[in-house]
Amino acid sequence: MDENAVGAISEVTAAATRVCAACGMCCNGVLFSHVVLQPTDVARTLRVRGLKLKSRGDGLHLYQPCPAHVGSCCTVYEQRPERCRVFNCRQIEELMTGKSSEVVALERIAHARKLADRVRELLRLAGDRREHKALATRFEMVLLPPLDTAPEAAAAREALVPAMQELEAVLLRDFRVALAGGQAEETAARGA
Ligand code: SF4
Ligand code: SF4
Repeated sequence: MDENAVGAISEVTAAATRVCAACGMCCNGVLFSHVVLQPTDVARTLRVRGLKLKSRGDGLHLYQPCPAHVGSCCTVYEQRPERCRVFNCRQIEELMTGKSSEVVALERIAHARKLADRVRELLRLAGDRREHKALATRFEMVLLPPLDTAPEAAAAREALVPAMQELEAVLLRDFRVALAGGQAEETAARGA
């Protein structure tokens, strides 16, 4: 490979690193609610690093927002789960293949983050304080009875449904990747 090609690849990789540093949505509970551990993942190492894993029907789950996501970095980067290693969202795929630019990716991230902040604010007004849970989980839980009947909470719940739909549409369009067979990846688990 010639020097120009190597330079172009390292510039794209650096751009992807900057884009992810400005985003964090595949770790902070906006895009996914959990990461399913794979046979190659060493659960003990992750536990030693302070991550809580829970056993579910399809294996061990690392729930999001991930406690290892600190200040836009992964504090267990060398030991991160396999699905974290292989996952690239649509933004990153398009950036790496030259279909998009860093500027466009950052604009889309800013837009999605604004919509996620709006959902968080409405959840707060609706009385939800479960900040340690993923956004989609909080959304489902706050709509379950018993409902807070205060007028402010009722108004927030009403506004929450279209706000969450708008966020999910943007995540589907700009971030989620297609699985084999043409389906979009499931919203709960990280990676295909
Ligand atoms: S959602 Fe995409 S851009 Fe955002 S941190 Fe994850 S891989 Fe990076
Ligand atoms: S382990 Fe690292 S890459 Fe995986 S969800 Fe947590 S912070 Fe993100």
